Amino acid sequence: MNTPPIAEMRHVHKRFLLPTGAELNVLEDISLEINAGEIIALLGPSGSGKSTLMRILTGLIQPTSGEVLAYGAPLHGFHPRASIVFQNFALYPWLTVKQNIALGLEWLKLPAEESSLRIRTVIDMVGLEGFEEAYPKELSGGMKQRVGIARAIAVQPELLCMDEPFSALDVLTAENLRAEVLHLWLDRRVEITSVLFVTHDIREAVFLANRIVVLGSNPGAIRIILTNDIPHPRDLRSPAVQALTDRIHDIITRAIIPDETPPAPALPRPVEPLPQATVSEITGLLSVVESHGGTVDVFDLSARIGKDFGSTLTVVKAAELLDFIDTPKQDVVFTEPGREFLRGDVNQRKELFRKQLMSLRLFQLVAGMLQKKEDKSLEADIVIEQLAILLPNEDPQLLFATLVGWGRYGEFFGYSADESVLYLDTTEAGSFAARRGG
Ligand code: ADP
Repeated sequence: MNTPPIAEMRHVHKRFLLPTGAELNVLEDISLEINAGEIIALLGPSGSGKSTLMRILTGLIQPTSGEVLAYGAPLHGFHPRASIVFQNFALYPWLTVKQNIALGLEWLKLPAEESSLRIRTVIDMVGLEGFEEAYPKELSGGMKQRVGIARAIAVQPELLCMDEPFSALDVLTAENLRAEVLHLWLDRRVEITSVLFVTHDIREAVFLANRIVVLGSNPGAIRIILTNDIPHPRDLRSPAVQALTDRIHDIITRAIIPDETPPAPALPRPVEPLPQATVSEITGLLSVVESHGGTVDVFDLSARIGKDFGSTLTVVKAAELLDFIDTPKQDVVFTEPGREFLRGDVNQRKELFRKQLMSLRLFQLVAGMLQKKEDKSLEADIVIEQLAILLPNEDPQLLFATLVGWGRYGEFFGYSADESVLYLDTTEAGSFAARRGG
């Protein structure tokens, strides 16, 4: 007989009743099994119901309809062999590291000796020796999350659930801790059989998981479940990892632009982040290049424009992305569009800028989203959310600001700051308010 899954949900729906009396449909017809030996990622944009799904599967909350099972039997209360690591660490500030970990063990009612042994073992495993008596406020984010992980593994769960465990940490700390958690599991240093984690970071899902459940939003539904057999250790730069990352990227972007759009070229181009440079900085850079006869050394350029090297490079990268310059070796050289841009009057410049924007995948995606909407407008929050998932390593707010700056200049779209709404400029009047009014 097959062993029943550790946790399972069948045709689960979840609706929340909002204070206004309206119902929010969060999960729709979700069926999912967590079997022994799996690391499963729940991947999707924020608001797609990932946390809700995890909470239902572990018995923290009840579904509106559908079945939730543990080892093949209906689940009542909290899953007996699951534990959770939370994004915000969920530590008690008045308890020490050791006491916070011990708290997780209390309900197991273990003999005192066994309890202390387990605490010592997990403290050693996650590298918290020396911090046993520290209070959470004395710890960095990474160390706090180590406490969260230690508390969750001290109970020796069969299913370790993690709700965006690394998203509150800086990039390097997250990378380090992610690899450590993977090793705890790979090296069988803990008795956890399976891991289920929530993330909106495609790379994190590809790095850790053997199965990736991609969720779409409004309401949250499973878009696809992908198997990831790439052997560990996974190198994020390897072709196999890159191919899977691109595939997921494509699945998510295709959901933003529906299939009716003309067939894409054989390999979808990746979505490029926009370097944070303003249009006037880019124009200024082009003028400096021109005044140097069309070619200038990038280090010279930095001195010329009185910016540090990093900021100079950002403007250079922006101009290069727009195909206004080329950067062979350490030179910055005009391209034909760059020359033409600088020669043009204000309207010709805008037109050329717009043409360059049209070749950028990010602008194509936003245009696609705008076209899809009946009123040809989009709330800023929705766009920012998509940016966060398409480019998880970028700051979505800053990216949005650059997108708006460039898009407005190229008259690619308009933006009403009062209403925080992006709109396609389809009228003479050109203002969102005017269009709304009539
Ligand atoms: P994710 O983890 O993918 O970001 P969540 O599961 O946290 O998504 O939330 C999905 C949606 O459900 C969001 O719109 C959120 O505001 C809403 N939601 C979550 N919990 C509640 C609740 N207790 N009451 C009302 N709405 C909720």
